[in-house]
Amino acid sequence: MTNQPPTDPQPIVLITGASRGIGAAAARLAARRGYRVGINYLSSEEAAARLVAEIEADGGSAFAVRGDVSNPADVAALFAASDAAPGRLKGLINNAGILGPQMRLDQISPERLARVFAVNITGSFLCAQEAVRRMSHRHGGKGGAIVNLSSTAARLGAPGEYVDYAASKGAIDTMTIGLAKEVAGEGIRVNALRPGIIETEIHASGGEPGRAERLAPLLPMQRAGTAEEVAQAALWLLSDEASYITGALLDIGGGR
Ligand code: NAP
Repeated sequence: MTNQPPTDPQPIVLITGASRGIGAAAARLAARRGYRVGINYLSSEEAAARLVAEIEADGGSAFAVRGDVSNPADVAALFAASDAAPGRLKGLINNAGILGPQMRLDQISPERLARVFAVNITGSFLCAQEAVRRMSHRHGGKGGAIVNLSSTAARLGAPGEYVDYAASKGAIDTMTIGLAKEVAGEGIRVNALRPGIIETEIHASGGEPGRAERLAPLLPMQRAGTAEEVAQAALWLLSDEASYITGALLDIGGGR
């Protein structure tokens, strides 16, 4: 008989909206840190498949799962896919998020309000519920961590651009604080990242693909951030290096 400690199963991290941008950067980094990565996407099937292939070619492991985070059945299927994968769910990055074309609040349609709140708020809640049901000591789980993607917009308000989006991120801040306290004694840490202006394709959905470039000189650091810089913080918050951090809202805004 050997005295070897039992080897832990490979940790799994689920990342929503990981076909591009911050989610894809977090997926690449998580794989390099030894996680099996669940890559969720909505419509970019090819991009998600390419990312899985890239991670596997680099010696990592990943799987892709299509699903709309605002749809409870899709979220159940996403977590079922994680249950079926070898390893143990240890992390969730609630990253999927959308915004609409820049406009004033008095111009926003009811349909857009419903969609932005459904994806950004309900989607993060549904995924957090499934993660807690698997990771909480209360449910027989072995613990883990959740990182929510908020935004500096939550405290700036995004006037004239997308107050609906900013308010949805305010809800994410509040959920982070409340859920962190609910599950702090159950082995789960919950934190939020509040990126500022990050170079990704999200600005094109707002109708201004060059927004990061335009605003860069106005920022205290005089440059936009990169998806990789946000990914570094997400992986740090997931890791044991952040073992006493929960309920934190961490700005990544280059001083903004
Ligand atoms: P992005 O480049 O627009 O990517 C969005 C990702 O979310 C895509 O993979 C997209 O998948 C996925 N997605 C959209 N709707 C979805 C849904 N209903 N269900 C599942 N996946 C969905 O965005 P990003 O800039 O990387 O932003 C990532 C997160 O950071 C968001 O929560 C955003 O609000 C936040 N954030 C970004 C910035 C910034 O400046 N970039 C600043 C602050 C906060 P498909 O490609 O398949 O549609």
